Amino acid sequence: MTDVGGNGGRISGPQFRVPPLVSIMKFHRARRTPALILVCLTGLCAASFASRGTVPVQDDDPEGPKLHDVAGAVKWIEGKGGNIAVQTGQDGPLVIDTQLARDREVVVAAIQAASGGPVRLLINTHWHADHTGNNEPFGDKQALIVSHANVRARLSGSERIEGRRADDTPPSALPDIVFEDALTLHWNGERIELEHVGPAHTDGDSIVWFHGSKVVHLGDLFFAGKFPFIDLASGGSVRGMLTEVSDLAERIDGTWTIIPGHGPVCGRAELIEYRDMLATSIERVAAAVEAGKDFETLFGESPLNDFGASWGAGYMDPERFLKVLYQDLNR
Ligand SMILES: [Zn+2]
Repeated sequence: MTDVGGNGGRISGPQFRVPPLVSIMKFHRARRTPALILVCLTGLCAASFASRGTVPVQDDDPEGPKLHDVAGAVKWIEGKGGNIAVQTGQDGPLVIDTQLARDREVVVAAIQAASGGPVRLLINTHWHADHTGNNEPFGDKQALIVSHANVRARLSGSERIEGRRADDTPPSALPDIVFEDALTLHWNGERIELEHVGPAHTDGDSIVWFHGSKVVHLGDLFFAGKFPFIDLASGGSVRGMLTEVSDLAERIDGTWTIIPGHGPVCGRAELIEYRDMLATSIERVAAAVEAGKDFETLFGESPLNDFGASWGAGYMDPERFLKVLYQDLNR
């Protein structure tokens, strides 16, 4: 366990273009209805909003990042990549994950608007490009970047995911502080624990506990309401994923708010649904492997259909998810 404390040396922040209008929405977990706060950085304050399901959507910019209050000092930026968390206070902004490089302009603007000042600490939950793609604007020691050791190792290498090369990572965007098992920060008046888990989604997954705010960011261990991607080529493990998720479902009680790697902010009930889906899926595929079925036969039996279409409506459709399960359980 390593301990990094309090007010270190001053870090001067990068210069960002401030968006003309930033919308901030309050996310009410209990009732799942959005109340609205608009912060206008110019005098113009005009935007119309509509609610689409449980997540508020801004009519005039349906694709842009949205900022939601979560609990305590923690906010959530919802966007196209992995979920970003921002914690603010007297020590300066702390950010978790940075989404995709291709969306750099809007993502960096959203982080800067949520932070209200130069970001000082940046945590990466794992190495994937939809969580580390915009490290660079905060890099070069402007913010200190913190991760599990395998994140730095994989970002420094020439890894491929499903045949695609990750974006080249410049040295300035690599993690500055790495850890093996756990790291405790005392930052903005609360204890923050970074805990390495797995192998699960990859071999470098961290979850982040905000003990004062009672918020936990689970990274890509948790795709809320969706079949998860499990990156076997990066040391991920199907059974490891279930082990870690099951463990977390026991450790997280109903007083905690969960930020998943993907999907809306939620609580223990949604994590348990996800754990049960994982357990049942793995059980069925393991039985098929045991019975000597080939993948085509298994897929033809539609063994995940009873979960409903919504679970397979994300990045992982039922065929892709089944393939990952089959590949791992059959080796
Ligand atoms: Zn990922």
